[in-house]
Amino acid sequence: MSGDGWVAVVGTGPAGPQWLTPETADILGRATDLVGYGPYLDRVVADHQRRHASDNRQELDRAGHALDLAAEGARVAVVSGGDPGVFAMAAAVLEALDRDTEGRWRDVSVTVHPGVSAMQAAAARLGAPLGADFCALSLSDNLKPWAVVERRVRLAAEADLVMALYNPASRSRPWQLGRVLAVIGEVHPPATPVVFATAAGRGEQERLTVTTLGEADSSQADMRTLVIVGMPGTRVLEREQGTLVYTPRYYEGA
Ligand code: SAH
Repeated sequence: MSGDGWVAVVGTGPAGPQWLTPETADILGRATDLVGYGPYLDRVVADHQRRHASDNRQELDRAGHALDLAAEGARVAVVSGGDPGVFAMAAAVLEALDRDTEGRWRDVSVTVHPGVSAMQAAAARLGAPLGADFCALSLSDNLKPWAVVERRVRLAAEADLVMALYNPASRSRPWQLGRVLAVIGEVHPPATPVVFATAAGRGEQERLTVTTLGEADSSQADMRTLVIVGMPGTRVLEREQGTLVYTPRYYEGA
């Protein structure tokens, strides 16, 4: 068996089915096999598919496994949370292909499909904090040296970029976010808005906090938190219905 298999790399969005695209739902429905980190697969309703759940860290092995299945004729959805191209499986699948010097997976069709990323969900919940130039950074130092994280954060602050910080904290990485906020604090004033969005879009679990660089409590962040650090022009609107945050599209001097 070979030739008809495919790998489609998809993302389920950051929360429930309301943020899963129709295209992704269609692909999940047509797949014979699902490959991904267990908790992401749990979010996908599937009874007819074979599930290949794995540990969150084995990304390259998981990608190779998906490609092997497809080479044998399976229709494989590789499932990430959020968008599959943002700190997720799409790059791992392409990395596996890149290393395939023997052409084992030459005949396998590989496609990537967009999803709603956590930063979009978190930003929308709070207004428009990413309304002007911004960047996205992962604070995880599993795949890069910590010095690189600090350098990028400092330069982003100096460039007045709003920052969407993924993977801000976990049990094994408790101090990193505090250090990052301190680095940004050396560049921006203490009143600069900071937002914590935990489990955005996940009903009762959702926690949204609007604070400032000077007052942010980094221990509030966990693995389900997306932190957005504004720039000095980022604005906070206190309204009766709740607090909204936005970064104006105009920059001083325009
Ligand atoms: N591919 C995913 C990101 C994977 S990295 C995406 O595009 O969203 C995992 C990190 O994403 C988490 O540590 C957290 O920072 C963020 N995240 C995922 N879902 C989230 C949610 N519902 N609310 C807040 N942050 C979330």
